[in-house]
Amino acid sequence: MTERDVMEFDVVVVGAGPAGLATAIHLANRIERHNAEVARTGQGEALSPEICLIEKAAEIGAHSISGAVMDPKGLDALLPEWRTMEPKAPVEAEVHTDYVLWLSERGGTKLPITPPPLKNHGNYVVSLNKLVQWLGAIAEKKGIQVFPGFPGAVLQRDGAKVTGVQLADSGVDKHGKPKGNFQAGGILAGKLVVLAEGSRGSITKQLIADLKLEGKNPQVFGVGVKEVWEVPAGQCPPGLVVHTMGWPLDSKTFGGGWIYGMGATEGGKNLVSVGLVVGLDYRDPTMDAHRQLQRMKLNPKVAAFLRGGKMLHYGAKSLPEGGLFSMPKAFGDGFLIVGDSAGLMNSMRLKGIHLAIRSGMLAADTAFDCLTRRDFSAAATGRYAEAMRQDWVHEELWRCRNFHQGFHKGRLAGLVNAGFAQLFGGKGTFWSDELPSRAGHTYMQQVGPYFGGRGKPQVEKLPEDGALTFDKLTSVYSSGTQHEEDQPCHLVVTQPDLCSTRCVEEFGNPCQHFCPAAVYEMEAKPGSKHGVDLKINASNCVHCKTCDIMDPYQVINWVVPEGGGGPNYTNL
Ligand code: SF4
Repeated sequence: MTERDVMEFDVVVVGAGPAGLATAIHLANRIERHNAEVARTGQGEALSPEICLIEKAAEIGAHSISGAVMDPKGLDALLPEWRTMEPKAPVEAEVHTDYVLWLSERGGTKLPITPPPLKNHGNYVVSLNKLVQWLGAIAEKKGIQVFPGFPGAVLQRDGAKVTGVQLADSGVDKHGKPKGNFQAGGILAGKLVVLAEGSRGSITKQLIADLKLEGKNPQVFGVGVKEVWEVPAGQCPPGLVVHTMGWPLDSKTFGGGWIYGMGATEGGKNLVSVGLVVGLDYRDPTMDAHRQLQRMKLNPKVAAFLRGGKMLHYGAKSLPEGGLFSMPKAFGDGFLIVGDSAGLMNSMRLKGIHLAIRSGMLAADTAFDCLTRRDFSAAATGRYAEAMRQDWVHEELWRCRNFHQGFHKGRLAGLVNAGFAQLFGGKGTFWSDELPSRAGHTYMQQVGPYFGGRGKPQVEKLPEDGALTFDKLTSVYSSGTQHEEDQPCHLVVTQPDLCSTRCVEEFGNPCQHFCPAAVYEMEAKPGSKHGVDLKINASNCVHCKTCDIMDPYQVINWVVPEGGGGPNYTNL
């Protein structure tokens, strides 16, 4: 039995994204105001709780990536003075022009009107990883103990009560044996644990399954892939927001793209963000979001924004797209769940940062009440759900509650439904508030084996010229991803035999396609049934969690690697 140090905290926040940092900052603000009031009036008791925030990335912000056009509503609530603060909030540009391009393979048409959910005037183009770095510095200044490079590996529980988090071990070799630099992950005991791990958080997933916290619809996800380019000045002005529909996705696949002018940053370079979101409820096992983004850039209308430029950065992340009815119960004995981990995203607007920040604030209000009453039970943490119901967060999510479900019958049905919902307060139909959801998140399973009688599909070769389009390994290089090589594989395949047998026959090993970082490879293995075996290049992993979501047999379990491993995002 490994001996582990135990450190006691009042509140432990897992994950330093916008939701986790907003929790920490707002809680610190509430305590500061409370203590000032106690000092002024001489009434009540001052609070000095121990609050810590852990993050798996080596530096705060290194794993944070988003579209990202930010609705400032969340930041306005958290830090009303953010526009005049020093150091300056790292927003790239205020949006001044936005439109939608409907793309075909060889061209595109600008829509005469921009659908209201895609109107972005008053919003800001941001780099999430820079924004998160800035918030991290504010949290530290407010006395929060911020620990980057420490992944939360296992939740500590006493039945349904969460009592803390065990950190990942470090210095373990690939066979699971301790090396000379072995360090057992300590246990952070916490009266309240706030889970802010992001989309498909690994310990949050386990908690939701164990305590049956799922929402009434299963969660459905998308994966976003993104590149940041340096382009000649004037080619894509800062604050220009273009959303794309149509090509390269077929009419049955949910998703769309974007081109955002970020502004002149990084030593005066003119930066552009170009990306694509693909709904992970597609049915084609050869679907590959990275490849689709490369195809999208071949469209002349998109290529025009990038001409003469250079790709600088690449990244990918999954997004919870199910909406209100897919949100899990986000509280219980000793815990709260915030941000993407709680499914807080508005997929109609392609926005989640403001919701993440606001959910963190509501969690902080609840944590403050729990601290003052010394009660961390589900009865006390349940105030979080009630606060959310009363807040604009719920109001916004209620309006788009049927958005994703509307696309289950294809793009046209989805657009009609979205238009109807805009007119009738988000309703599913005239006679119902709610559209039915297709069960399960592994949609390939639902259509049955892909190869049944149809033969193996051919994946068309793309012209990867290394200038406009890139192979996955080149893209991964641009994500700055690094992991310690000699450590246990953090992609745990619980039934590896399936990969070289049933999965070859039934789905053609879709992991080779859905992973946007070339982690999964089927290598030749003479003598095996199909002549191939799975090879996992775990050190390429950009932590998007797509494999954990999309494996048709659900035998891939993404667990945290050694602290500090993963992408090193810049400007993403
Ligand atoms: Fe994403 Fe999984 Fe590939 Fe890692 S291995 S990049 S989590 S799909």
